[in-house]
Amino acid sequence: MTKTILIVEDETDILHLVEYHLKAEGYTVLAAQDGIKGLDLAIEQLPDLIVLDLMLPGMDGLEVCKALKRNSKTENIPVVMLTAKGEEVDRIVGLELGADDYIVKPFSPRELTLRIRAILKRFDREPAEETQLQYLDLKIDLDSYKVWIEENEISLTVTEFNLLLELVQNQGRVRTRDQLLDRVWGYQFDGYARTVDTHVRRLRKKIGSYADAIETVRGIGYRFKEE
Ligand code: CA
Repeated sequence: MTKTILIVEDETDILHLVEYHLKAEGYTVLAAQDGIKGLDLAIEQLPDLIVLDLMLPGMDGLEVCKALKRNSKTENIPVVMLTAKGEEVDRIVGLELGADDYIVKPFSPRELTLRIRAILKRFDREPAEETQLQYLDLKIDLDSYKVWIEENEISLTVTEFNLLLELVQNQGRVRTRDQLLDRVWGYQFDGYARTVDTHVRRLRKKIGSYADAIETVRGIGYRFKEE
């Protein structure tokens, strides 16, 4: 089954380049050149992944991403942000936005397609035999990608969900940043340790009373406290 990818990018050259490479990879490509059209297309077509430029006319990528994550139809669609060098990365993968990944311009189309493939692969993960995981009052549903604390549903992005799942499934064991990158993001990348830290920080905020269960193992990685 072919996957559909929506690209929202106002720079025609970049749009065409990305479009060309994604089509060559066998993806169905939808394109929009401003934020509002991009958001409309996303809601209407429900693509499998969205490549979203940060600086866009009309409604910028930040607002589009927020709107996507607020809409129950689109909240689970992975978003890869395109950013120019120097734009604040924390803001992009930060709490306020909820993008699943980002790539800094100028980038190679090959890097982007690898990134997209990795994200789609982890999103497609075969459902485990056991579909629910329980840790004290924290409940994780692997089928619906939902998480509850007591009876309250916690809204997580796909990346945060996979990160939490990886940590809980390995409770009591240290997961290095590289292992987390490999398991949660599907690739390793120099300088990406920071991405792990940012996502852990964001995840801790969202899981409130369980924040302390994610222990920082200095210089190495993270460990979820054993139940
Ligand atoms: Ca732009």
